[in-house]
Amino acid sequence: MKEIRVQSQARNELIDVTSDVEKIIEKMNIKSGHVILYVPHTTAGITINEGADPSVQRDIITTLSRLIPPDGNYHHLEGNSDAHIKSSLLGCSVLVLVENNKPILGTWQRIFFYEGDGPRSRKIFVQS
Ligand code: ZN
Repeated sequence: MKEIRVQSQARNELIDVTSDVEKIIEKMNIKSGHVILYVPHTTAGITINEGADPSVQRDIITTLSRLIPPDGNYHHLEGNSDAHIKSSLLGCSVLVLVENNKPILGTWQRIFFYEGDGPRSRKIFVQS
């Protein structure tokens, strides 16, 4: 199993990790198969979406925060229930197909780590 380290800078943030994933896949030498990217955190997530226009990332972050406000009437005493809910909505893993040591992504697709309760040091596990 391999690991990608991510350092978030803000409370809510989408971080493009596509090039890190490409480097790891290159090292894993996968001719044809897949990798699973797994985020072992309860207030973060991982998702694949458009990377060409940064407005898309901004819209995802602001819409999630509008739907799931930080100051909702939550029971969890730690004060970060919004981040836990966003984490469950986005999910903690994605499967990426691999061909000739490269991830198969659509023209506009990029792989994003989602930070819901940053800034923090995070990781993504990668296994084929
Ligand atoms: Zn919590």
